[in-house]
Amino acid sequence: MDTEKSNSDWSDVEIQAAVDAYLSMLSREQNGQAINKAHENRVLREGALAGRTKGSVEFRMQNISTVLVELERDRIEGYKPAQNVGANVARSIRAALNASSTLTPEDFAPTADDATLEQRAAKIERQPIKDEPKGIERPEQTQSSGKSYVRDPEVRAWVRQQANGRCEGCGGLAPFEKDGRPFLEVHHVKHLAQEGSDRPSNAVALCPNCHRRCHHSSDRDEFTASLFQKVERLKFE
Ligand SMILES: [Zn+2]
Ligand SMILES: [Zn+2]
Repeated sequence: MDTEKSNSDWSDVEIQAAVDAYLSMLSREQNGQAINKAHENRVLREGALAGRTKGSVEFRMQNISTVLVELERDRIEGYKPAQNVGANVARSIRAALNASSTLTPEDFAPTADDATLEQRAAKIERQPIKDEPKGIERPEQTQSSGKSYVRDPEVRAWVRQQANGRCEGCGGLAPFEKDGRPFLEVHHVKHLAQEGSDRPSNAVALCPNCHRRCHHSSDRDEFTASLFQKVERLKFE
């Protein structure tokens, strides 16, 4: 018999374990692999969720689906969203989703939304990226009022990893950190509005000063030309 622990509140550590397992299953499902929910449930109860019942782990997974649907994110087909998720549980599931380093295909999805793009890039960037991403040859503009371009978060992440904390324009260290990472802005050498690509061969990581210089200074053309000497991967488009 299970000791009934399911009525007591779940700790943040337990929620995080459930969220990490969920995202890992989602990732495998989206990559076309079969997932065995009963097995995953058991593994969790042999580890981080020891003392929880099979039913309460299952219910937590459905809670995670509910929160993902609210966030307009993908969910696992097999976990139908649960009706009633307490506000506290929903809050800690959202926090666990933000903190999780488990990457899903969704994290790599191109987007025109600046906040989403940055969130995805920052998450991808936490782990070393093995292969240079292809990026997008002709980024499309969205219809929305902002008229932003659809960009590849992995390109942003990869370019910043290449820069390794230093501005590729002036060679100086990033002026400050944001969320524990050096702050550098990714600039498209041939602007997207001029049909530049969103590819590593057209993108540099710059400190805010150098970035402004590329856009606004009187020597912006010369300065931009100098980037081709400093950054080998850049190609004229
Ligand atoms: Zn700089
Ligand atoms: Zn720029």
